[in-house]
Amino acid sequence: LPGLYIVATPIGNLGDLSPRAAQVLSNAAIIAVEDSRVTAGLLRHIGVKRPMTPYHDHNADAVRPGLIARMGSEVVALVSDAGTPLISDPGYKLVRDARAAGHLVATVPGPCAAVAALTLAGLPTDRFLFVGFLPSKQQARAEAIAEVAGIRATLVLYESGPRLAACLTALAEGLGDREAGVAREITKKFEECVTGTLTQLAARYADSPPKGEIVVIVAPPGAPEPASDEDGDAALAEALTRLP
Ligand code: SAM
Repeated sequence: LPGLYIVATPIGNLGDLSPRAAQVLSNAAIIAVEDSRVTAGLLRHIGVKRPMTPYHDHNADAVRPGLIARMGSEVVALVSDAGTPLISDPGYKLVRDARAAGHLVATVPGPCAAVAALTLAGLPTDRFLFVGFLPSKQQARAEAIAEVAGIRATLVLYESGPRLAACLTALAEGLGDREAGVAREITKKFEECVTGTLTQLAARYADSPPKGEIVVIVAPPGAPEPASDEDGDAALAEALTRLP
């Protein structure tokens, strides 16, 4: 059926491309891509050749109307270089405008580094907050961390190797020394997930910035919920009854 198909692609291991993703890409009249060289490699892997058009932050506004126009009669696929489009990647405005135009919007879910890292770290997963990339400037980063410090959820952040140690140090300062995990090169040959407290991890990576792509997972604040005023009053009243 014609429409917009959001297609997740592997984050390292090409074996993670789903049969349905391969099928939709094979049938696409046009594939909107971040980097045509990266997607060309993926298409080669499945033995198909389809037309591609770049879709990234710098040209999205200009090319979006043309893509929307084609969705009425053709299969338009959106992929990013790796993982799920729209997750720290372009695409939400394309989905918004496709919906507004009344086109079919379908998703072909698959790999996502954030979710994959959550499955590796061994930290609570019942509530998590995807933070994406923190700002790189120190002050803005500290503010962004302060904003999420009180949230009772596991935090998921994307980071790069050269900035990892500084990021972990800033997290320890802003959140306290929580348990955390650094997931690296997920689904690739050197996949690893190193766990420890934020300061332990910061020390580990301080002098040896790791290579490759990284997701940082941080445990929720550990302290029990502060007792409410009412609880406090009740506890005091109860204690008073036991005084001689
Ligand atoms: N849309 C993608 C997804 O669904 O995961 C994320 C795109 S974002 C621009 C790229 C970031 O994702 C990297 O800087 C890294 O933090 C994370 N990432 C992507 N692939 C990864 C992998 N194989 N291992 C660890 N982190 C990865």
